[in-house]
Amino acid sequence: MATTTISQNQMRGGGFLIAASRPEDVFTPADLNDDQRLIGQTAKEFVDKEVLPLVSDLEQHKPGLLPQLLKKAGEIGLLSGGIAEAYGGSELDKVSATVLAEKLAGYASFAVSHGGHAGIGTVPITYFGTEEQKKKYLPKIATGELLSCYCLSEPQAGSDALAARTRATLSADGKHWILNGQKMWITNGGFADVYVVFAKIDGDKFSCFIVERGFPGFSVGAEEKKMGLKGSSTVPIFFENCQVPKENLLHEAGRGHIVAFNTLNAGRFSLGAYCMGGAKMIIETASKYAKERTAFGKPIADFGMIREKLAEMAIRSYAVESMVYRSAGMIEAAMSAPHENKTQQAMQVLEEYAIESSISKVLGSELVDYCVDEAVQIFGGYGFHEDYPVARAYRDSRVNRIFEGTNEINRMLIIQMLMKRAMGGVLPLIPAAMKLAEEVLSGPSMEEGSEGEWAEEERSVANAKKIFLLASGAAVQRFREKLADEQEIVGALANIVMEVYGMESSLLRAQKASAARGNSASVMLDAARAFNYGAAGRVEQEARTALAATVDGDMLRTQLSVLRRFAKREPVDVIGLRRRVAAAVLAGDRYPFEGR
Ligand SMILES: Cc1cc2nc3c(=O)[nH]c(=O)nc-3n(C[C@H](O)[C@H](O)[C@H](O)COP(=O)(O)OP(=O)(O)OC[C@H]3O[C@@H](n4cnc5c(N)ncnc54)[C@H](O)[C@@H]3O)c2cc1C
Repeated sequence: MATTTISQNQMRGGGFLIAASRPEDVFTPADLNDDQRLIGQTAKEFVDKEVLPLVSDLEQHKPGLLPQLLKKAGEIGLLSGGIAEAYGGSELDKVSATVLAEKLAGYASFAVSHGGHAGIGTVPITYFGTEEQKKKYLPKIATGELLSCYCLSEPQAGSDALAARTRATLSADGKHWILNGQKMWITNGGFADVYVVFAKIDGDKFSCFIVERGFPGFSVGAEEKKMGLKGSSTVPIFFENCQVPKENLLHEAGRGHIVAFNTLNAGRFSLGAYCMGGAKMIIETASKYAKERTAFGKPIADFGMIREKLAEMAIRSYAVESMVYRSAGMIEAAMSAPHENKTQQAMQVLEEYAIESSISKVLGSELVDYCVDEAVQIFGGYGFHEDYPVARAYRDSRVNRIFEGTNEINRMLIIQMLMKRAMGGVLPLIPAAMKLAEEVLSGPSMEEGSEGEWAEEERSVANAKKIFLLASGAAVQRFREKLADEQEIVGALANIVMEVYGMESSLLRAQKASAARGNSASVMLDAARAFNYGAAGRVEQEARTALAATVDGDMLRTQLSVLRRFAKREPVDVIGLRRRVAAAVLAGDRYPFEGR
C-alpha cells in the first residue's frame, strides 16, 4: 500500500491511518512560541503559588475557597481562553489552550474545576449562544465573576445521556420553560452561578438551557463523598417547577444533542492534556523519591526495575505528548484558515478531529493512571500513606477514565466515526483496504525492504496501518452494519488505531528533533524506538485477537500469515533504550522531553 505523504494542514481527522506525514509537518512541543511558553509558565506559577499551599483546606471543602481561587485565576486571564475577544476573552489558539491545560494539572481538583468552568461550562454558550446570551454571560464568565458548569448526567443517564428524564415545558403564558428533574455529578455545581442544563422539551425534544442559580425552583444537593478529587465540588442539582426565561433556551429546541456532543469533543481533547500534565508531574515526584530512598545500601533509583518504571512512565508520556501536540497543531491550522463564520468553522473542526479528541482522552487518562500506579509502587508502603503525595494522585486520577465519556464509549466512538467517514467517502479507507488486498496478493514489495536509519521504525508504522486495514476490513466484511454489536472486536480495533497514532507521532517528533538538534535528541530517539517496538507488539496481539473472533479455518490461517508478514520485526534492545531514558529522567528529576 503506497501511502501519500501529506501536510498536516491538509490532514483529515483519522487521516493518519492511511496517509504518511513528514516530520516537518507535525507540530511538536519544540515548536511552541514564546507566548505559548509564557502561558504555560503563568499557569504553573499560579498552581504552585496560589493553589498548592491551600490543598489541605481545599480537600476539606473550606467554604468559599475554591470559587475564590477560580476568580483569582480569572483575574490573570486563566479562565478566558475559550472566549472571543469581542466578549472579553483572550481567544487562545488551540496550542496555547493545550499548554494551559497541562500546566494546571499540578492539583487535579483545581484542574477539573477549571475544565468544568472554562471548558465544558463555557463552550456551549460560546458556540451556540445567541448574541444576547453571549453578551450577557461570556464577559463575566471570562473573568470568573460568574462561575459555570455543565449539567448533562442524571442518576439514570450517564453514558446513555439521551435517556435523560429531566423535562421542560413551556409555561401557560409562554414566558418560561418549566424544568422538572434531577442532574447528577455536577462539577462546580456547589458554587456555580450559571448552569448549562440539558432537558427534554415535552419529554422528547432533547434541548439545552442556561439556568441561573437564583431561578425559582432550582436547588443544589449535598457534596458527593468521592474516592478522589476531594477538593472539587460535585453535587446533584434539582429542578422543581424551575422557571427559566424563554430566551434562555440555548441553540434550538430538539438540537441539544448537537450542543452536548460538540462540547464533549472539545472537553475530551483538553482532558487528555490535563492528564498528560499530571503524568509528567508524577514522574518528577517519583524520580526524586527514588533517589532519596535507600534499600540494601543504595538508593532505589539504582535498581534496574525501578529505573525501568521511570523510563516507561517517561516513554509513554512522550508518546501521548507527541500525539496531543500534533493534534493541537492540526486543529489550530484548521481553525485559523479563513472562514466567514468562525463559530461554524470551530464546530466543523471539532467534528473533523473528534477521533483525535477521543484518542487524547483515552490515552491521556490511561497514561496518568499508569504513572500514578507505578509511582505508588516506587514509594512502596509510603505510597499507600496519605501523608505522601502519590496516594492523593492515585485516587484523583481514576475518574479520568470515567467522565467526559467513559473510555469504553470513546473506544466505540473512534471506530464508529471512522466507519462513518469511510462510508461517507470523507476518508478513503475502503480504497486503501482494496489496495492492500492487491498488495497482499502480489507478495512482498520494494517498500517493505526500504533502508536508512529509521527504516525499521518507518516500516513498522506503515505496517501497523496495514494491520489495521486488514483486521478492520475482515471485521466489516463479516459483521457489516452489526459490527458495533461486536464490542470486544471494536475495542481491539480502536486500540490499534490509537497505537498507530502514537507510533507515528512519536517517530515524527523524534525525526524532527533529530534533524534540528542532532545528537542532543538521542534520548528522544531512544524513547521513540522503545515506544514503537512495544506498540508494534501490541498491535499484532490486538489484530490476532480480533481476527480470531472474526474468521476461522483456512481463512483465519491465511489472515494470520498476512499478519505475521506485516508484524515481522528485527529485535530491539528495549532494556538498553529504557536504561538511557531512565538516566535522563534521574539526571534532571523530571520528564526529560519537556518543551522539546
Ligand atoms: C467526579 C465526577 C465528576 C463529573 N462531572 C460531571 C459534570 O460536570 N457534568 C456531567 O454532566 N457529568 C459529570 N460526571 C458524570 C460522568 O460524565 C458519568 O459518570 C459518565 O458519563 C458515566 O456515566 P455513569 O456514571 O452513569 O456510568 P454508566 O453509563 O452507567 O456506565 C457504567 C459502565 O458501563 C459502561 N457502559 C455504558 N454503556 C456502555 C455501552 N454502550 N457499551 C459498553 N459499555 C458501556 C461504561 O463504560 C461504564 O464502564 C461526573 C462524574 C464524576 C464521577
